[in-house]
Amino acid sequence: MTTEHPAENADVIVVGSGGAALAAAYTAAANGLRTIVLEKTEHFGGTSAYSGSGIWLPGNQAQHRAGVPDSVELGTEYFTALVGDRTPAELQRAYLSTGPELVEFLERDPALRFRYQPFPDYFEAPGRVENGRDIFPVPLPATELGDRLAHLRPTIALDQHGIEQDRENLIGGQALIGRFLLALDKTGNADLRTRTRMRSLIVEEGWVTGVVADGPDGTTRLRAARGVVLARAASSASTTCAPGTTGCPAAAGRRPPRAPTPATRSPPSKPSARPST
Ligand SMILES: Cc1cc2nc3c(=O)[nH]c(=O)nc-3n(C[C@H](O)[C@H](O)[C@H](O)COP(=O)(O)OP(=O)(O)OC[C@H]3O[C@@H](n4cnc5c(N)ncnc54)[C@H](O)[C@@H]3O)c2cc1C
Repeated sequence: MTTEHPAENADVIVVGSGGAALAAAYTAAANGLRTIVLEKTEHFGGTSAYSGSGIWLPGNQAQHRAGVPDSVELGTEYFTALVGDRTPAELQRAYLSTGPELVEFLERDPALRFRYQPFPDYFEAPGRVENGRDIFPVPLPATELGDRLAHLRPTIALDQHGIEQDRENLIGGQALIGRFLLALDKTGNADLRTRTRMRSLIVEEGWVTGVVADGPDGTTRLRAARGVVLARAASSASTTCAPGTTGCPAAAGRRPPRAPTPATRSPPSKPSARPST
C-alpha cells in the first residue's frame, strides 16, 4: 500500500540534482527562498558528476583572473558563426549575456570557485580563442564534504564499471557537485532529498503549483509558492509542461509570485537533508 503524506510547502521545488538543478537551487536558496531538491536516485549529481565540468561562458571573471582576453561580444561572434539561428535568438542572448554575471554571483560564495584551464574551442571560426575559454571548478578536498561525500554520485569509472579511484581530491564534475552541496547546505534554506522521484506536476487553473513525488516513505504533494524548476536532463524532457514551469519549452507565462515562505530549516552542519542511508 502506498503511504500518502500531508502536503508540504516550499518556495521553489527543483527536480533533478545535476549542475543545472543545483545552480538553480543555490540561486533560490541563497536569495532566502525555501528550496526543495528532488533526486530520484540515491546520489546527487546525475551525469554532471561524471563530467569534466568544462564550463563555456565567455568573458567571465575566472578567465580574466587568468589573463585570457575574452568578452561576451567575442564569444557571441564565435557562437553565432557556429550555431546561427538554429536555436532561439532570445535564449542565445540570455545564455551569453548573463554568463559573467552568473560566475560573479556564484563566486561570492567561498564554496564555489572556478579557474581557467586551457581547453580549445573546437572549431575554426571568427571569435575563436586559441587556447579555449573553458573554466572548471577548483578541485575540492573530499574531507571538506564530510558526510555529504556519501551522497555524491561517484565517478563514472567507479559508478559504471566498478573501477576504484582515488577520491581524496575531487575534480571536474565531482568538485562541481560537491561544491554546490556545500554551498546549498550553508544557506540553511535547502532541503535536499535523494530517492525521491517527481511523479507529476500539480496544475491548478492552468498554473503549475507543485509536484507529486514518490520518496522512500511514500507519496507527498509538494507545493511551491514561487515556482518549479525541471532540471532532470534533456534526455528525460517533460511532455507534461505547463505554463509557469521553468525548464519547459512550452511555458507560456508566469504567475505573480506569492510571498516567500519563511525559511525554517536547520543550520549547515545539520542540513535538513533526507539522505538515502
Ligand atoms: C564523461 C562526460 C564528460 C562530460 N564533460 C562535459 C564538460 O566538460 N562540459 C560540459 O558542458 N558537458 C560535459 N558533459 C555533458 C554534461 O555532463 C551534461 O550535459 C550535463 O551533466 C547535463 O546536466 P543536467 O543538470 O541537465 O542533468 P544531469 O546531470 O544528468 O542531472 C539530471 C538529474 O535528474 C534526475 N532525475 C531525472 N528524472 C527525475 C525525476 N522524475 N525526479 C527526480 N530526479 C530526476 C537524474 O537522476 C539526474 O540525477 C560530459 C558528459 C560525460 C558523460
